[in-house]
Amino acid sequence: MRERWVRTGGVELCVAELGDPARPTVVLVHGYPDSKEVWSEVAARLAARFHVVLYDVRGHGRSSAPRPLRGGFTLEKLTDDFLAVIDAVSPDRPVHLVGHDWGSVQSWEFVTVKRTEGRIASFTSMSGPSLDHMGHWINKRLKHPTVRRIGQLLDQGAKSWYVYLLHTPRLPELAWRGPLGTRWPKILERVEKVPGGGYPTSSLPTDAAHGAWLYRDNVRARLRRPRTDAYAHARVQLITPLGDAFLSQQLYDELETWAPGSVRRTLPARHWIPRTRPDQLAAWITEFVTAAEDGTPEPTATGRYADRFGGQLVLVTGAGSGIGRATALAFAEAGARLVAVDRDAESAARTAESALTLGAPAAWAETVDVSDEQAMEKLAGKVAAEYGVVDILINNAGIGLAGSFFDTTPEDWKKVLDVNLWGVIHGCRLFGGRMAERGQGGHIVNIASAAAYQPSRTLPAYSTSKAAVLMLSECLRAELAGRSIGVTVVCPGIVNTGITSTARFAGVDAEEEKRLRKRAARLYGLRNYPPEKVAHAILRAVARNEAVVPVTPEARGARVLSRLAPWTLRAVARLRPPM
Ligand code: NAD
Repeated sequence: MRERWVRTGGVELCVAELGDPARPTVVLVHGYPDSKEVWSEVAARLAARFHVVLYDVRGHGRSSAPRPLRGGFTLEKLTDDFLAVIDAVSPDRPVHLVGHDWGSVQSWEFVTVKRTEGRIASFTSMSGPSLDHMGHWINKRLKHPTVRRIGQLLDQGAKSWYVYLLHTPRLPELAWRGPLGTRWPKILERVEKVPGGGYPTSSLPTDAAHGAWLYRDNVRARLRRPRTDAYAHARVQLITPLGDAFLSQQLYDELETWAPGSVRRTLPARHWIPRTRPDQLAAWITEFVTAAEDGTPEPTATGRYADRFGGQLVLVTGAGSGIGRATALAFAEAGARLVAVDRDAESAARTAESALTLGAPAAWAETVDVSDEQAMEKLAGKVAAEYGVVDILINNAGIGLAGSFFDTTPEDWKKVLDVNLWGVIHGCRLFGGRMAERGQGGHIVNIASAAAYQPSRTLPAYSTSKAAVLMLSECLRAELAGRSIGVTVVCPGIVNTGITSTARFAGVDAEEEKRLRKRAARLYGLRNYPPEKVAHAILRAVARNEAVVPVTPEARGARVLSRLAPWTLRAVARLRPPM
């Protein structure tokens, strides 16, 4: 990291640079109460591709503070500072601006005022709205109130509690230089899940005390009289953490007016994403900046949930057919990068190919038998080394097995448990393990079945394997909750896929097995529930972090009965299916 000092408007700003200055310049602006080090993880990841610049905002970190403090932090002065920094680091080429929290609030000013026109190529905003846009947002709701709008005002009003406190004289300064300053690192760690060690830096109490003037100098004035010309003159990417305790999603309802065509990204995280989600942020910034540099349109995945899954690495087992294929393609449509895994190489390759045509920015096919521990270990190593840590894992590969308990041989048991249960265990352990180790969240989906809670005299082995997957998923969900990794178990019901053509029927000869497979295929065809609907339920479940997801109406009905009137399911379990 190289450092330099930039003098402007009576202050000296500490500016750090990483990467090759010949590359496109990305300027990272920090928030409150932070210093430029909040970006250290993101900056390190961006430095291989870009010239990365970060600076301590006036009064923060190692930059000096204006005297007097009052009136020294207006958006106009902060814009002067930004221009002075980019004059020093990138005088001839427009820069790509990235702001978090108050860094984003002030960046909205930079990207909407005339004097920076032509100097900014793109802007990525995180957790920091424009005060002007917010002023109009509030006015609109006050002038034309509806129940919903009043609810939105009250919601944001409650989330802004600290803003009122910061307007009180001297109290914030006393708190930050006293007990709050000492406790803040622990609070960040506990509440915000910011990994400990190294952040925040020792300048925190002073940063926080000075930074109170960011609010006092700007908030009331701008909210009362918001600018009417606050239109962005560069392309905008908006990244919103869904668990932000300070900002509600609805604040951005009118963003399209101010920044037409902006790209939206959401992620399940709390406010301090530069510390908790550096991989994801670096990937989204890289994609967005590269598109702006190349002059290509912004990433345009059109599928539902494109804001949530765009650019994420999704691995699906059993992706060659049925539910796995439909799920892989639904994620592709949402702009995810895909690893399509199947024991059948050709069908996996077909899925990866289709994924690319549907909008996946990248898709790879991998051949593996999920029940083979060593092969799975090898695959997990390869995926981590070549494509990265999996963000969303779908353990879907499974096989069918029907036949009474006494017709089911130990070999049959072994086979079905090896694939349906051990396949899931290997997936969770190997891909989920790396996800947990990375510490930046993720999601695991295990495909069980309605047979997991609906007993049947004809599916003892299959149902046992799926019941085990259900319980495994519940236990894992509890274990991983503290690491921001969601676990969902999906129980589809009868879905029209190729599973009937490969299912094994125990206790019958080959001829009879063929007849039974045909019969099952006909029944599944008559029911005709498409795997695409299961795929949709899976994407929705990940987006909402649902625990147990029965899909078809009969699967949902059976789930309710298993709770309220289990005897009904027991009675059904005794029925001999028509042969
Ligand atoms: P499918 O047969 O259409 O697809 C399964 C895919 O998994 C195939 O491409 C197959 O090659 C692959 N596969 C099978 N064993 C594998 C192994 N050992 N290693 C790697 N790949 C393997 O079946 P489907 O209906 O899409 O089933 C997907 C999942 O959904 C399974 O776990 C199944 O038990 C479950 N499920 C299906 C239904 C249904 O009605 N179709 C109902 C409930 C649950």
